[in-house]
Amino acid sequence: MNSRSKKNKLDQMKREKSEALFQKAKTYFPGGVNSPVRAFRSVGGTPLFIERGKGSQIWDADGNKFTDFCGSWGPLILGHANDKVNDAIKKTVEKGCTFGAPTALENELAELILNNNKYIQKIRFVSSGTEAVMSAIRLARGYTKRNKILKFEGCYHGHSDSLLVKAGSGLVTFGNSSSAGVPESFVNETIVVALNNEQAVKQAFADFKDQIACIIIEPIPANNGLLLQRKEYLQFLRDICTENKTLLLFDEVISGFRVGFTGAAGYYDIQPDIITYGKIIGGGLPVGMYGASAEIMNHISPEGNVYQAGTLSGNPVAMAAGIAQLTECLKPDFYNDLEKKTSIFVNALNDYAALHRYSFRVFSIGSIFWFAFTDALSIQSAEEIVPDSMKYFKILHKELLYRGIYLGPSGYEVGFISEAHSPEIIHGVQRVVMECLDIVLK
Ligand SMILES: *Cc1c(COP(=O)(O)O)cnc(C)c1O
Repeated sequence: MNSRSKKNKLDQMKREKSEALFQKAKTYFPGGVNSPVRAFRSVGGTPLFIERGKGSQIWDADGNKFTDFCGSWGPLILGHANDKVNDAIKKTVEKGCTFGAPTALENELAELILNNNKYIQKIRFVSSGTEAVMSAIRLARGYTKRNKILKFEGCYHGHSDSLLVKAGSGLVTFGNSSSAGVPESFVNETIVVALNNEQAVKQAFADFKDQIACIIIEPIPANNGLLLQRKEYLQFLRDICTENKTLLLFDEVISGFRVGFTGAAGYYDIQPDIITYGKIIGGGLPVGMYGASAEIMNHISPEGNVYQAGTLSGNPVAMAAGIAQLTECLKPDFYNDLEKKTSIFVNALNDYAALHRYSFRVFSIGSIFWFAFTDALSIQSAEEIVPDSMKYFKILHKELLYRGIYLGPSGYEVGFISEAHSPEIIHGVQRVVMECLDIVLK
């Protein structure tokens, strides 16, 4: 770790190849990327172009090596290029990539999931988290015959029109669209309230009685910092949904298979009506999924009248990768080991920050962590994040990068620890983070 951290120091880090690739990419793609946060805008500088990964390590086009805590934004719970996942992919791809007809692999992945998850009975595979959520919302509307949905400021649910909505000012608001191209009439069906505010939710149900098809929440909000909610609050949402015949939709695209095999539903033991998964479920290939009781799911076409389809849905290669990855996740102590590694890392950093009286705290759950520049002991809603604190993250990100540690390039994004991050690697990283905190905060 030490020799590498010296080698990668500031002025010595080569970036010529990444720079050249980015200049070219800018002529092909808006902002040079195929997903906005990759562009490094919020930390400054230009993105690294990654050439390969193995385990906890990635290498960029200039040959720089990093310990990776982005993990492709969550999917890689076994690390990069896991042998079992790769073998399954290779074996399957030999037989053809796609048929547009059912394959046994879909049954196999479904069995693996359903035999180990008491919160859902029937599922449908799709190709991304966005698609899973978009379809689940349609299902909630079709099932309840209601149009409005309620979401929370600080939760991300992919980029479908009705969810690209941010709060206006006021306790209960129709949002303002957070993207051009979203019609006002769509936005008017989406109610937005702050997290962790029971009064606002009660008010919404009073204002829109018998109109709310579903409440959608990231039960572990991890796309705008890590805004850990109280179990009592999630239970309150469960109860108010039941009272109002509104469906409770847990968007577990990030928390599913991450904080445990059954995600947040299992972690808090709360039964939602619909659950969406993505990220980890595909072993690094594009898979999303939504599931519910058989009764609710039977409203989906061709059984029911809620239409949803996909040319590449249930893709055999992606199914094989998912099967290989989830099989590993089901091994005894898999999640315990991950959580143990993560809490050693998190506790060490929090102790260090406390000792030096730094305004810095690492929030974590399972193997998810978030670096926050704050004195607060908990942050539960988006409004509590001080935007100005992001300037510290920007410096930290750069210092860590130069020392061979790769975090997602935004202070609002969380980090992930994988099975492939050995205790030795983590220990080394811990010391480098401490060194960098001294630079940022001293
Ligand atoms: C990542 C994410 C999505 C979107 O998934 P994509 O595969 O990027 O479309 C939706 N909801 C949550 C909670 C997510 O973390």
